[in-house]
Amino acid sequence: MTTSSFPIISKPAIEDMETKPNLDYDKVRGNFDWQQMYDELDWLPGGGLNKAHEAIDRHANGRNRDKIAMIWEGKNGEKETYTLRQMKEQSNKFANVLTSLGIEKGDRVFIYMERLPELYFAFFGILKVGAVAGPLFSAFGPDPVKDRMLDSEAKVLVTQPDLRRKITPIIPVLFELQHMVIVNKNNRDPQPLMSGDLSYEEEMSKATANFDTVITSQYDYSIMHYTSGTTGKPKGAVHRHQAVVQQYATGKWALDLQEDDIYFCTADPGWVTGTSYGMIAPWTNGVTQLIYEGGFRASKWYQLIQDYNVTVFYTAPTAIRMLMKAGDDIPGRYDMSSLRFMASVGEPLNPEAVVWGNDVFGMPFHDNWWQTETGAIMCANYACQDVNPGSMGRPIPGVELGIVDDEYNEVPVGEDGNLVVRPTWPSMFHTYWNNTEMYNSRFRKGWYITGDTARVDENGYYWFVGRADDVINTAGHLVGPFEVESALIEHPAVAEAGVIGKPDPIAMEIVKAFVSLKDGYEESTELRRDIMRFSRQKLAAAVAPRELDFVPTLPKTRSGKIMRRLLKARELGLPEGDTSTLEDD
Ligand code: AMP
Repeated sequence: MTTSSFPIISKPAIEDMETKPNLDYDKVRGNFDWQQMYDELDWLPGGGLNKAHEAIDRHANGRNRDKIAMIWEGKNGEKETYTLRQMKEQSNKFANVLTSLGIEKGDRVFIYMERLPELYFAFFGILKVGAVAGPLFSAFGPDPVKDRMLDSEAKVLVTQPDLRRKITPIIPVLFELQHMVIVNKNNRDPQPLMSGDLSYEEEMSKATANFDTVITSQYDYSIMHYTSGTTGKPKGAVHRHQAVVQQYATGKWALDLQEDDIYFCTADPGWVTGTSYGMIAPWTNGVTQLIYEGGFRASKWYQLIQDYNVTVFYTAPTAIRMLMKAGDDIPGRYDMSSLRFMASVGEPLNPEAVVWGNDVFGMPFHDNWWQTETGAIMCANYACQDVNPGSMGRPIPGVELGIVDDEYNEVPVGEDGNLVVRPTWPSMFHTYWNNTEMYNSRFRKGWYITGDTARVDENGYYWFVGRADDVINTAGHLVGPFEVESALIEHPAVAEAGVIGKPDPIAMEIVKAFVSLKDGYEESTELRRDIMRFSRQKLAAAVAPRELDFVPTLPKTRSGKIMRRLLKARELGLPEGDTSTLEDD
């Protein structure tokens, strides 16, 4: 049974494949033991484990030291390359800068930057001192930065002049913040440093390139990413160095990374794909990675693939739908013959997009599923297996997935239910920062509850059904409605706000807000625009509402909670369902 009317895309037998895939799924999954992957890592002297050592230093200390690790193209067309040895030296220097600032194991150091090489040097430098790296999405406005910096009590923020200026108003309330290190790439910004800020370039010029990575154990914290839930502010999902085991393994199996690959991952390090698969997985696998600072432009992406001979391409469904919209003729204008494997993550990948890849590039997009909390790919379509368009594929070796009902009992094959994972897997998050209660609430009857609904077919392929909560997935970014509502009600005219995800053909969902006004304010196009502008400035264009309707009141439960489900049903003209908890008008 499949749930897609699209035919299966068959693959030749492994023996007949030109590039032999890293994984023979059926062979490996049956008697797999994670120890095999632990043994493939280098480990620190004395048995410690550190992601920076596995990704950078172990290669830089060996025969691949002069191999290009990073090919960088800036948004203004600048081009730079860095070998593994240079990556090691630069990250060592930054580790020395942090040490000189008094940063120690366990401290949080956050990065709020665009995709510049220095972001990557800083990231690995943070890991080398044993601190916890927190990358923030550079398009965020001051509010999301403030929430995350306050919650994590980060001591250092590495940023750029323009982003520094953007968040100036929140700096006085960040009581734990001790230093801001400003990267002025290629002197792009002519203005002098703000008082108290440190120049990255100056600090790096004083630092030496020798540094002994602080011994971290596999259980020490390494990275935190904030992710949205249904209620409250985003939570910091904390990962340990141990996650590198699964990031390495899945880079090999689900992305089929091989030594000579040129890999292009379009995710930003502000989101988990950008660290797990934009840093750790590719470099632990020793491949050359293309990093492009600029945003989406179909012809530019095709040109990058052509110019740098990209072989493996990992992107997201919204981007694929935008490529489809740009037209089938554009890829034909470029030489795409270097490509040999394409994968996608972050949202449901519609079967049409999988088939489109096959028609236009001669290979399907391989969808895979995972989330911030899982730290690494959990379910995938593999190079070695037929692709079932519309399916997220099969669990990676060593991972057990399940589909359960609301009492956490497994449901029969083919039935919809909650997608759950059997703890523990190596890249499992270890806590939500300062929120153990919320962390514990994600585990029930021996399962980790993902918040997604799905079904599995008799061949073991998983099919995404939806989210079990109100979290919105817009262009692959999870948006918590509460965070947007909180920003909206800070506008002087707004009394109450309710936010939903509205289906959209490209971005899957867009953020839609319903707003009731305070007495004395009149609905008008201008006010609507003003509220939307206000929320964009506070949050980020990617997170702020794209549509806003004025309503006299919002539907609420008797206990005062906004009934987003009802707002959504009304917006989409669907049945309103159970309204017994609706407060009386
Ligand atoms: P994040 O934690 O921001 O990476 O978002 C994870 C969520 O994105 C998952 O829980 C799903 O709701 C969604 N997601 C990720 N990958 C897929 C996929 N392949 N198909 C459908 N939804 C996905």
